Amino acid sequence: MKKYIIISFIISLLICSIKADLYAKSMLSQTDPENNPQLTMAGVSYDNQMRVAKFWARSQMENYKSPEELKAQDAREIRKGQVYSKLMQGNPKIKAVALTFDDGPHPAYTPKILAILKKYNIKATFFVIGKMVEQYPDLIKAEDTAGNLIGNHTYHHVNLNHVPLDEIALEWQACNDAVKTIIHKDMRYCRPPGGDYDVDVITAAMDSNLKTVLWTDDPGDYASPGDKVIQDRVLQRIGNGGIILLHDGVQQTLDVLPQIITSLQNRGFKFQTVEEMDKNLNGSPKSLKIKKHRKTNK
Ligand SMILES: [Zn+2]
Repeated sequence: MKKYIIISFIISLLICSIKADLYAKSMLSQTDPENNPQLTMAGVSYDNQMRVAKFWARSQMENYKSPEELKAQDAREIRKGQVYSKLMQGNPKIKAVALTFDDGPHPAYTPKILAILKKYNIKATFFVIGKMVEQYPDLIKAEDTAGNLIGNHTYHHVNLNHVPLDEIALEWQACNDAVKTIIHKDMRYCRPPGGDYDVDVITAAMDSNLKTVLWTDDPGDYASPGDKVIQDRVLQRIGNGGIILLHDGVQQTLDVLPQIITSLQNRGFKFQTVEEMDKNLNGSPKSLKIKKHRKTNK
């Protein structure tokens, strides 16, 4: 049994490496300076460009942490005395939930999500990607004008655990700048792609006055498992203070959103932005400054 686990682990590593290799090659052939600013360095050898492109490809692969994994990581941090400025769940005594939409804005989906939220008179939180924000500023304006909260989901949508130390802060800052140019507000909340974070990711966020928001409920909508599956996963597990991870850009999410909202409203849940939820928490975790642990850049 152990042998099979080791073999499947090696195979998945190989597949991941081949995928990164192919992706890196395709990125190099595109040499699109908009999407791959790191590839525009003049005078860099092909090998070195390939190395950077591979790193970039790996850092853009998003593997979502389950709510259980996030809770286990939180428990480990508490044992080590690391208490971060982060929001994992709202007040369990208040019958409210937060809908969060990651990875937008998206020209085909964001307006439809906004129309549904308006119809049911509720507000949500959008964790947006900086480079998408720059392409669709009107959608950010529309999200903000309707009273929704806009949160930071990095500029390039990278796995921050794989990004060099000095670039983590840049990822948070560049996304903040993109949004601030449009709505003239600093963001206060952020979400690392995939829920992947370490000491450096959270301390860089805290240095930029961002509180990290994770989730309690992940129906896996990004994999398009089917309308009914998404709906059941949300409705069967949800509780007070639930933070629901959804995505801007998934048709099934759009299809099932009205049913999710009406079912939760019928059960007496109120909808809050993560900021409203955070304000309802009495004595939220104290922010401690923790020494950065990455000695050198990867
Ligand atoms: Zn994401």
